Amino acid sequence: MIGSLAESISSIATTNKQLTDAAEAIGKGNFNVPFVPRNDDDVLANAIIRMKDNLKRFTREIEKSKEQFRQVADNAPVMIWMTDENKQCNFVNKGWLRFTGRTSEQELGYGWIEGMHPDDYSRSAEIFDDAFNSREQYSVEYRFRRADGSYRWLSETGAPRYSTEGKFEGYIGTCVDIHEMKVHEQRRDNFIKMASHELKTPITSIKGYVQLLLNMYKDHNENKGQFSSQAIQASLTTIDKQIIKLNRLMSELLDLSRIDSDRLELNMQNFQLNDLITESVEDVQQTTKHEIIIKNGTICKVFGDRDRIGQVMLNLLSNAIKYSPKTNSIEVNIYQPAKNCVAVSVSDHGIGIDQEHHQKIFERFYRVEGKSEQTYPGFGIGLFIASEIIHRHNGSLNVKSKRNEGATFTLTLPILS
Ligand code: ADP
Repeated sequence: MIGSLAESISSIATTNKQLTDAAEAIGKGNFNVPFVPRNDDDVLANAIIRMKDNLKRFTREIEKSKEQFRQVADNAPVMIWMTDENKQCNFVNKGWLRFTGRTSEQELGYGWIEGMHPDDYSRSAEIFDDAFNSREQYSVEYRFRRADGSYRWLSETGAPRYSTEGKFEGYIGTCVDIHEMKVHEQRRDNFIKMASHELKTPITSIKGYVQLLLNMYKDHNENKGQFSSQAIQASLTTIDKQIIKLNRLMSELLDLSRIDSDRLELNMQNFQLNDLITESVEDVQQTTKHEIIIKNGTICKVFGDRDRIGQVMLNLLSNAIKYSPKTNSIEVNIYQPAKNCVAVSVSDHGIGIDQEHHQKIFERFYRVEGKSEQTYPGFGIGLFIASEIIHRHNGSLNVKSKRNEGATFTLTLPILS
């Protein structure tokens, strides 16, 4: 009797041990643990099996939704990151890694800070910290290092994230590359500053000389003072020059707005190109000490807007003068690079342009930034307008130049065969 009781107790102990081992294994996520209930009445074992099946299903669902999140995050066209509740980065998506060219291991924790532009770090960190501490959404713009080593402007938006129970779990955020927009904005701001300065200077000068003439006139009327015809001529010449300058600036601004609203109309006609080039050179020659030499390698007619092409020539010639203050010769060459087109090149021996700016100088508001360029007045829209005009004639405008070795701008136009 005692023997069979001992046997039963030992069997219960074994079963209990099996149950405990199985429950522990399941708790650790091992759903393959072998476990068979003794029979249908084995309530505890059957409950554990049901619990095992439920846990297995929930775990699969969680894995599936994690995988879905990763897929969405990795395929999103933005950079995505997350932090934990202690501000440490615990996730970056593939878009982020593609941008930085680094690994997750390098970026997680605080590794990403290495990519921040040193001048933007403290400002951005302050905005993030303030938002984080008050659990608010925020936006900030800063420069971040791309895989190629260049810094790009990013726009970041972050928001707090909470568990389903409402527990704060950290932040989630996205970053979008807004570099082009930002650069354009900066150029536009520089343009506005430059434009107001450039427009103000001739007006101030005109005002000064008109005041001087008025005073002379008053003095003559009231005190029978003498008119100095030399002084009058000098004042009027300066006023005239400033009005021409003002007029040119206003025309450029008007052209820009015409191009923007697609209202730059061309008055097309057949005309002798060589005559137009000679006229443009003669006009400019009167205003400069530079010697401008024309080489007529070909004589030809083109179909186009004579005034507009003349405007492009004036722009190229005045740039050649402006950007070559220490030399004094400019060559204009008219030639036929191919049967169906004619080219006009304007070459100077001035400050030249680095290769990296060759494309960009034809964009609106672009000016080469450097110590020497800052001393040259300008809007950075002349070449943009010139290239628009030439493109509308199905031609092309390009530059060949090296820093300190002068520049050659060449416009090419189709000709009638
Ligand atoms: P800007 O009013 O500034 O002269 P442009 O659109 O005519 O505007 O020219 C754009 C930029 O291209 C200039 O700011 C200058 O940096 C560069 N550039 C144009 N022509 C020359 C040239 N002949 N030599 C050197 N740089 C030039």
